[in-house]
Amino acid sequence: MNPVVEPLVAIVTTDLSAVTRGRSVTQSRLEKVAGTGIGWLQANISLTPFNSIANPNPWGSSGDLRILPDLNARYRTSLTGAETPFDMVPGDIVELDGKPWLGCTRTMLRDALADLKAATGLSVVATFEQEFQIFGADFRAAHSLSMEALRRADPFAPQLMAALEQAGVSPEVIIAEFGDDQFEVTHAPTDALTAADRCVAIREITRELTRNFGWEATFAPKAAPDAVGNGVHIHFSFVDVNGDPVTYDPALPGRLSAKAGSFCAGVLRHLPALTVLTASSVSSYYRLKPHSWSSSYTWLADKDREATLRICPTVSIGGRDPARQFNIEYRAADATANPYLSLAAIIRAGLEGLKANLPTPPLVTGDPSEMTAEERQSLGLVRLPETLEAALEALQADTVVTGWFAPVFIQSFAGVKRAEIARFAGMEPAAICDTYRKLY
Ligand code: GLU
Ligand code: MG
Repeated sequence: MNPVVEPLVAIVTTDLSAVTRGRSVTQSRLEKVAGTGIGWLQANISLTPFNSIANPNPWGSSGDLRILPDLNARYRTSLTGAETPFDMVPGDIVELDGKPWLGCTRTMLRDALADLKAATGLSVVATFEQEFQIFGADFRAAHSLSMEALRRADPFAPQLMAALEQAGVSPEVIIAEFGDDQFEVTHAPTDALTAADRCVAIREITRELTRNFGWEATFAPKAAPDAVGNGVHIHFSFVDVNGDPVTYDPALPGRLSAKAGSFCAGVLRHLPALTVLTASSVSSYYRLKPHSWSSSYTWLADKDREATLRICPTVSIGGRDPARQFNIEYRAADATANPYLSLAAIIRAGLEGLKANLPTPPLVTGDPSEMTAEERQSLGLVRLPETLEAALEALQADTVVTGWFAPVFIQSFAGVKRAEIARFAGMEPAAICDTYRKLY
């Protein structure tokens, strides 16, 4: 790079279509800019993934906002193969006087965490496990999970891990996954806000690196209707005010503490309404089907990958303590959903369960899709919405869930989703998946 060209840093926000957008300044100006941020506008929350603004939207052409960069959340790496470093700082959207803006999903997550802590003393530890596929690489066919499947892409995997490490997202494992040309990358558990920031950084760094290989990464939930899905699995656990783990209780079913059980009950109770917030596109609903290892019913289970809430295993090798490893995985999420909003909604639903002191839901074994309607009813199992439209209706029908947000925010969200539904009306699932594949 020409040494007189100063690299840029992007101040970003992630929107209701999970698109990360922002404005950039030269790196040396970041500190100065941080005090008042960069310009933004209300109508941006009504942007669709198709470079249009949902119409109608509650905002119109007037109004201005700022994005204040969170300097504690800077993700920078010079290892993406680009001319200048990747440098991204997530920010909070505020009014011109610095007051939080009602449409900022990062603020929603921070507020949900603060309310959970105030009401229960609990903090959330979280991690996002993300699957994606690579197109355009002309890879030789390879066996799922095989040595060859990862090595044929060399040096993609080590370069991605190095870039993520340098950016500070603490990557853990990279896998050549089960699907065709599918990969997965995980990061170390951390506080929930940082986890959502890392989720965004991982997507953007992965996309940039694959672009610079001349390939295309897609995090879309289904690259084709019958393809293996690309899931986003959100793992969570709780610590108390002293930082001690409180999710685990070996004396109780599933080893789930009473508090974690109440939290899960709240999530399952509101799950039909939450689904559109965590699986937000038309193609999301081709993934949320039985026998896809995604999730399809309001279902808590111990170590079962078909469940929506899966109690994850712990290892005792070398005498390791299970309490701190113990966590629950929410599997009805994908990368067309905003990760801040997803986590905020899960936490708000869990908090409802805690406030109502709900009992731990039954641990389901077996396959809900093969049970009789009576069996499902006795276990409280409800099918998740089967289309984006039904999911949006389920959200709007649950006034507890809509009550967590400003009405104009729900109106904006519904506007974007309706624009998405209208965009694909009458199209074949294969063409719909193909469009999303290129967009995500
Ligand atoms: N690909 C599956 C999904 O769509 C997940 C497979 C796994 O358990 O990792 O969520
Ligand atoms: Mg996986």
